Amino acid sequence: MAVQSIVSFGDILLRKKAKHVISITPRMIRILNDLVDTLYAVEGRAGLAAPQIGILRRMIVMDCGQGLMELINPQILDMRGEQKGPEACLSLPHYIGAVKRAEYVKVRAMNRHGEHIIIEGTGLIARCIQHEMDHLDGKLFVDFAEGNWIYSRTSGDKMSLADAINLSKHRPMRMVE
Ligand code: ZN
Repeated sequence: MAVQSIVSFGDILLRKKAKHVISITPRMIRILNDLVDTLYAVEGRAGLAAPQIGILRRMIVMDCGQGLMELINPQILDMRGEQKGPEACLSLPHYIGAVKRAEYVKVRAMNRHGEHIIIEGTGLIARCIQHEMDHLDGKLFVDFAEGNWIYSRTSGDKMSLADAINLSKHRPMRMVE
């Protein structure tokens, strides 16, 4: 178990599609534990997807204030309504964008014991599930941000993703499994 470095926007790894988890091996559990440790090591976190720690597997972890959720091979069963609000990503600290999401989602997934679970939520939980699941398909919140603009949390400056990556002090890193 260990806190891992978070892969930054601009790294091609975040644009790749993650593979399904075929069986829950000790290695998969280690990755899940690393995801949890890394999630809780970051302030202001809500969710983290395996590609963000360099692992192209379909696993996400989340805590939107209601406790830890671990989803393996999540699949959307239902989405309804619409919400629009500020969204951020641990792979691009200090920036936010205005993103439209479904207000309600229902997903099926597997937990670390290999049991099938159903999770449903509205508001922040629904937003977080959609954001993290996008990571498994190489999609990033800026793709859906209004006008593809993002804003600096500190200065409020509006910029493109390319500008934000250039300004970011976080160096892209590469950890392909
Ligand atoms: Zn993200």
